[in-house]
Amino acid sequence: MPDQVDRIAVTLIATPIAMKRSQGSGSIARAVKRVILQLRTRDGIEGLGEAQAWEPFGGTAEATAAAIDLYLRPVLQGADPSAISATMAGCDRALAGHPEAKAAIEMALFDILGKRLGVPVHALLGGAVREAIPLSFSIADPDFSADLDRARAMVETGHRIFKMKTGFLSPAEDFSRFERLREAVPQADIRIDYNQGLSVIEAPAVLRGIAALKPGFIEQPIPRGHERALAELSAMLDVPVLADESIFDAADMLRCAAERWADAASIKLMKTGGILKARRIAAIAEAAGIPCYGGTLWEGGIALAAAAHLIAATENISLGCEFYMPRYAMLADIVQQGLVIENGAVTVPAAPGLGMALDAGAFKRQTEQAR
Ligand code: MG
Repeated sequence: MPDQVDRIAVTLIATPIAMKRSQGSGSIARAVKRVILQLRTRDGIEGLGEAQAWEPFGGTAEATAAAIDLYLRPVLQGADPSAISATMAGCDRALAGHPEAKAAIEMALFDILGKRLGVPVHALLGGAVREAIPLSFSIADPDFSADLDRARAMVETGHRIFKMKTGFLSPAEDFSRFERLREAVPQADIRIDYNQGLSVIEAPAVLRGIAALKPGFIEQPIPRGHERALAELSAMLDVPVLADESIFDAADMLRCAAERWADAASIKLMKTGGILKARRIAAIAEAAGIPCYGGTLWEGGIALAAAAHLIAATENISLGCEFYMPRYAMLADIVQQGLVIENGAVTVPAAPGLGMALDAGAFKRQTEQAR
């Protein structure tokens, strides 16, 4: 007889962070809210899920917790944890949108299935094509010289990729920050992320200027909704343009591929609503010759482990990842041992399931509301 999901616990937590973050849209200080999902089966296997919703980007933590607790709980109660596609289709029928909630549910089901079969989640996705994922660290501290010191120290331990957040200061200040960063870490691949921070009318001139400094790529210079202008910018520049906020789902990716909005795409589980949907996006992108990047909002170890398994098993997510928050930006995560970062790369977890276990004390300290 198949196992069944028996107990469902949804917990809203607030995680203190170590440094302020400034970006093209929305800044972050003090704490990030997350939702932790614990599914327990009748046979006693526990699966962990995590959702992080960032308000200027997509949803909210409170809405995510309510979505799971009030609207998706009936789909999960009694579900067969090995019937992941069917359960996720049921979630889509029960509730539109809320990709963060759905991503948390799907990863908890994968965690249960992996633990049940004794294999890591990436083995359930066809097996690993890479054991380590190059890590990008985001330069977003309003105290820029603190970030320069950090970057210098990080290259000493093997880091080779940085992503500078731009678009919240003047273009001249962004150019000079780029040059100072390049001087501090001359060997590194420096990428730029505007987080939609430029207007369509100013973008061509500003981007010609920053492109002359040869960043590795330029991420989402203008707001979602202006994809025709994004395509024109991509065609104009000889530096790759990467779409993030413009691509949430497979339909967006299909249009991006057909209309050539961008040269590369950022995949985030919190945008796609889970691993299986992320793989559809990566497959469409691959067919169009568009490589993908492992982006994040503010997830901790559980959600980042899920994303690491996805990237391990998906050849076309080949531009690295930015899974640095628990290690470098959060004061404490709620897992016992987070993702291992070595020599500038994230090691793909090898233990059964996601490979993450809750730190009960930290989890309790960060809990704001349990439902
Ligand atoms: Mg981005």
